[in-house]
Amino acid sequence: MKYIPVMGLEIHAELSTASKVFCSCANDFGGGENTRVCPRCSGMPGTLPLINQNAYTLAARAGFALDCRVNNYSAFDRKNYFYPDLPKAYQITQFEHPICTDGFVEVCGGRKIRINRIHIEEDAGKLVHDDYEGVSMADYNRCGVPLIEIVSEADFRSVDEVLEYVEQIALRLKYAGVCDAKMEQGSLRVDVNISLMPYGSEIFGTRAEIKNLNSFKSIKRAIEYEIERQTEILESGGKVVQETRHYNDNHGDTKSLRSKEEAHDYRYFPEPDIPPIFMTDEQINAIKADMPEMPHKRLIRYTDKYGLPEDDARLIIADKALSDFYDKAIEVYPNYKAVSNLILVEVLRNLNDSGISAENLQFTPKSFAETVKMSENGVISKNAAKDIVKILFKKDRDPKKIAEENGFLMNNDTGALEAVINSIISQNADIVQSYKNGNNKVFGFLMGQVIQQAGKSANPQLAKDLLTKKIMEQEG
Ligand SMILES: [Zn+2]
Repeated sequence: MKYIPVMGLEIHAELSTASKVFCSCANDFGGGENTRVCPRCSGMPGTLPLINQNAYTLAARAGFALDCRVNNYSAFDRKNYFYPDLPKAYQITQFEHPICTDGFVEVCGGRKIRINRIHIEEDAGKLVHDDYEGVSMADYNRCGVPLIEIVSEADFRSVDEVLEYVEQIALRLKYAGVCDAKMEQGSLRVDVNISLMPYGSEIFGTRAEIKNLNSFKSIKRAIEYEIERQTEILESGGKVVQETRHYNDNHGDTKSLRSKEEAHDYRYFPEPDIPPIFMTDEQINAIKADMPEMPHKRLIRYTDKYGLPEDDARLIIADKALSDFYDKAIEVYPNYKAVSNLILVEVLRNLNDSGISAENLQFTPKSFAETVKMSENGVISKNAAKDIVKILFKKDRDPKKIAEENGFLMNNDTGALEAVINSIISQNADIVQSYKNGNNKVFGFLMGQVIQQAGKSANPQLAKDLLTKKIMEQEG
């Protein structure tokens, strides 16, 4: 390809407040149409907005999650446009004075993507188009749901960078408790603006904007389609038109929605019904102090400090509840690798099988850590540890009791084991001799015989050590 794609992102994230941003209607998903609407959020004349303090706090938390500056002063503006999903015919947003500015996220091994700003705004309603009846219906439940819009600079140069950025932002917002980032429910939506720049040039081309992408797959396909479309235009000597395009998930293509000439003039002006907001340094610092560790920092802790392989660490961190569980478990038993291994092998598998989420685990990190510890100390076998996890998934209990009741405790009685080994050695004199002559392969057979006779509860490590020792003591 002779062109480098140049992209910038606008991410809309719904804030996890209990109520809407300017009224007391519930901020929920689903339910019947127009069941969470009041005179305020449906824009009845004479009503006044009341700002939800928590929306402000969450927006500031988003700022800290994305290494932004959280501003003392911010204010709301009115963005005027008419569309049937917006009964007030204007949206309250922050245009001149956003709450957060100047952040960044590092992607793909250290490339810095700059975040220009994060501002608060209200969501619009939703139109449901019924092609069969030939009508559109308005559902205003989403009107006034608090959003933040995270606006990046045009710093992306590949699809992979875009995907990693969105993934990181979604995860960080979840960690910060700002947004549940359920793309399939529309609580995180992505607009991509994209242009092509010839190799060697530093001048950006004309950009097209693709709106409302709500899955990683559609982000990837829309960008790939758009790169191809714009390349074809440029190579045939044409000019890319500045416009807004709609991505069609069924066709995997984008279609023009409106060109620059048709773009809205929003006539922004300061929102007269909401006074500007001033947060003191103390208030801002208190929000900062309350921030949890962010996943990218946690990744460094897991890999550099605990020595976990990066892929393992990422798997655990991808789920905050699971990662918190891991952190509590290693407080009880700080064998980082062993605790991580049993989580990755057995906890993830059981979570998958049962459909339970990590937040709803039935057992404590302590029970889990003690299971890992018993396994590592040779009190139970690795397989027994997996069985105990399976039992814990049903109900939290003392893992030692479970081990006792199920005969999982390994037999560390050296005397009994020695007797078994002596008998195996004398029954298999030829094989023992063959091993002593250098045929290492037969050791496994002898071990198998020992375990079979000594029973499952025999400690395999102890049996192995004893068997080796006994063979070496043999004459011949
Ligand atoms: Zn309302």
